[in-house]
Amino acid sequence: MNTTISRQTLGNLDRTAELLVGSGIDLWSVFFLVRTGRAGAGDLISPDEAEEVMHRLAGYAEALPFDIRTTAAPHYRRVLLQRPVAARRRGGREADLVEVYRESPLFRALRDSDRLQGKCGVCGFRQVCGGSRTRAYALSGDVLGPEPICSYEPPRWKKRARRAASRTLPMIPGRPV
Ligand code: SF4
Repeated sequence: MNTTISRQTLGNLDRTAELLVGSGIDLWSVFFLVRTGRAGAGDLISPDEAEEVMHRLAGYAEALPFDIRTTAAPHYRRVLLQRPVAARRRGGREADLVEVYRESPLFRALRDSDRLQGKCGVCGFRQVCGGSRTRAYALSGDVLGPEPICSYEPPRWKKRARRAASRTLPMIPGRPV
């Protein structure tokens, strides 16, 4: 969900937040208007109003069930740091995410192209490509499985397929095996 903070929308902030609570969103992106294009000087909010909006956003972020990100409002970080509880929560959450990314067996596997399966696992391009892990998982249930919509057949994969085919050839009478 995207919202622009301007003089016209300023009065609707609480109502917008209320509406979003029941909407099931994960992220509320809040853009602080920059005076370009059609925006006029009168559309901008004052520094005091911006400060107040940022504190309200910080309060929502502590209480509401979705994340809030701001655009064109770097001082929102300063506001968060001035609210120790909110800052701790936010910092803790980011640290948790970094930890999950570094240590989870799934993310480790996803970073290791040698663990890919099927033709992606023997492909010479696996370190620069690796295929879409999302699509592999959606179609086969195996997040390390082969990319379903790549037509490239790695030479090692073709060789392996030829070997497998020769093992299943029917025996022809009189022909040496
Ligand atoms: S998607 Fe295709 S090119 Fe990419 S690693 Fe898999 S087989 Fe190789």
